[in-house]
Amino acid sequence: MEDNFRHQGKRRNLIALLREKGITDEAVLKAIFEVPRHLFLDSSFEDHAYQDKAFPIAAGQTISQPFTVAFQTQLLAVKKGELVLEIGTGSGYQTAVLCQMGAKVFTIERQHELYKKTSLFLEKLGIKPKYASFGDGYLGLKDYAPYDKILVTAGAPYIPKSLMAQLKVGGKLVIPVGEDPQIMTVLVRTSAKSFDKETFGEFRFVPLLENKN
Ligand code: SAH
Repeated sequence: MEDNFRHQGKRRNLIALLREKGITDEAVLKAIFEVPRHLFLDSSFEDHAYQDKAFPIAAGQTISQPFTVAFQTQLLAVKKGELVLEIGTGSGYQTAVLCQMGAKVFTIERQHELYKKTSLFLEKLGIKPKYASFGDGYLGLKDYAPYDKILVTAGAPYIPKSLMAQLKVGGKLVIPVGEDPQIMTVLVRTSAKSFDKETFGEFRFVPLLENKN
């Protein structure tokens, strides 16, 4: 669980690359600098942790590419103290970035193996989401709703109605929509019944699957 000068140097280079690729939100860049991504990968991939690439994690899933994490987090525009629901805990890396930015994070994972492994790992790192849940992200997490922000980190074939319903008025949902590739989509809830929609180009995610596993 070491984070040394060599790792930090690599993160500094990654931040420079993310700036080149168009990430401008300093709070996002700071959080990515502060979270040791190499600890979230299997040790065989550790040397590659600061390349801008996605890597396999347990249960056939992937940790998103740093640019994708930065881009989605920038779209989300998280402020300290906001309630954020994340769908797809995976390795916990995105969860850690959101926690680092001061968000109160609720996160859902459908693969039991990942849910267990990542919950323990985040605890070991001292990263404290408000709640980590084993469940189906299509349903959201009603008990703690409404949320300021909702972030989906798997490719959704359509926008689940329950996620729209669990958003505060003024709140924002960031979700990659489609089969392959997905279109990065942002919904802002402008009133109880209306949403504004904007899109931000193509991305590739593992699919958002229904039910638990
Ligand atoms: N945020 C993660 C990205 C992991 S990839 C990270 O930083 O590592 C997407 C994750 O979504 C996978 O772990 C996958 O198991 C999970 N997932 C897929 N369908 C889901 C669903 N319906 N509900 C919750 N999680 C889901």
